[in-house]
Amino acid sequence: ADGRVYNFSAGPSAMPLEVLEEVQREMVNYKGSGMSVMEMSHRSKEFMAIAAEAEKNLRDIFAVPSDYKVLMLQGGATLQFSSVVLNMLGTKSKADYLVTGQWGEKAHKECNKYGTGQLACNTKSSKFTTIPAKAEWKLDPEAAFVHYCANETVNGVEFSYTPDVGSVPLVADMSSNFCSKPIEVGKHAYIYAGIQKNLGPAGMAVGFLRPDFADGSKEMKICPTYCSFKTTGDNGSMYNTPACFTLYVMGEYLKYTKKVGGLSYWAEQSDKKSGLLYGTIDGSDGFYQCPVEKSARSRMNVPFTIKGGDEALEKKFLDEAKKHKLYTLAGHRSVGGCRASLYNGMPLEGVAALTDFMKSFMDENR
Ligand code: PMP
Repeated sequence: ADGRVYNFSAGPSAMPLEVLEEVQREMVNYKGSGMSVMEMSHRSKEFMAIAAEAEKNLRDIFAVPSDYKVLMLQGGATLQFSSVVLNMLGTKSKADYLVTGQWGEKAHKECNKYGTGQLACNTKSSKFTTIPAKAEWKLDPEAAFVHYCANETVNGVEFSYTPDVGSVPLVADMSSNFCSKPIEVGKHAYIYAGIQKNLGPAGMAVGFLRPDFADGSKEMKICPTYCSFKTTGDNGSMYNTPACFTLYVMGEYLKYTKKVGGLSYWAEQSDKKSGLLYGTIDGSDGFYQCPVEKSARSRMNVPFTIKGGDEALEKKFLDEAKKHKLYTLAGHRSVGGCRASLYNGMPLEGVAALTDFMKSFMDENR
């Protein structure tokens, strides 16, 4: 489509053009129903079919164990920070948090509203640039669960493995690397992810829930009905009106994912794209620098500075990048610098255009 740019936004973010075009084709008259999905009752047979197919495709693509519940939720991953605690604390009062970035920090803080969030690790003092080895984690065998953030969007720190926490239920915020590689669902008691990075527009989150947390037995009395995993699960994620249009677009994204080869395809693309960008940064003789330790670097969000954090030069970089159709490269407002997010909607040629530009910018501004 004319006039589109390479959008490196951290989310909401670029989507595959094919998905947008399919949505456009079906926009005003969905499959001969005479109305848009936006205008349909969520109880209509057309919409019920959209929701059922989306759930089936989530189960297929992510290899979700058949006894797990698939939840489609509103309130973003932020509301899940609360819901996790409200539904999973049970008779216990404390939970462990592996804090490796700003989102894990927020999740931990939310826990303290309803119980005690314990810091099993916290890398804040080293500016969230590492993932400590397991030997350094202070895990409490009595914790109700262990929470980790699989990919820290702001800091660019990603777990390349599923943390081993023994028999304590494991909970993951996968918002910003969901649908970018195969995941071990069965090793988790709960996985949740906002979908506005790799799987659709903003407006909903997906949850994969182990059955022993779906029966309400560990739900706190004060848990709002809206946040109850049991209520959501028992009602097929339609206790109230879902984010219908967002859910439909996610469904189209899932169909597209199947068509291109599933999670292994996205994993391969992510490796290529992030490899190209990190290679350019590391090959720049320090002109560009990524603060994150190599083993913890994210394939999704790549933060970098220019000439050790030269703000004037970074501004020049962002301005000139736009002339090359390279958009939304500013770092998070809390950390500054630059950040390129390489979600599924960003094609390899977009990253190649970025690295070409980075090389010529470096030659001109050394
Ligand atoms: N967790 C992570 C890892 C995120 O990247 C974000 C959003 N950028 C959130 C949680 C919060 O998600 P939301 O804005 O959908 O509530």
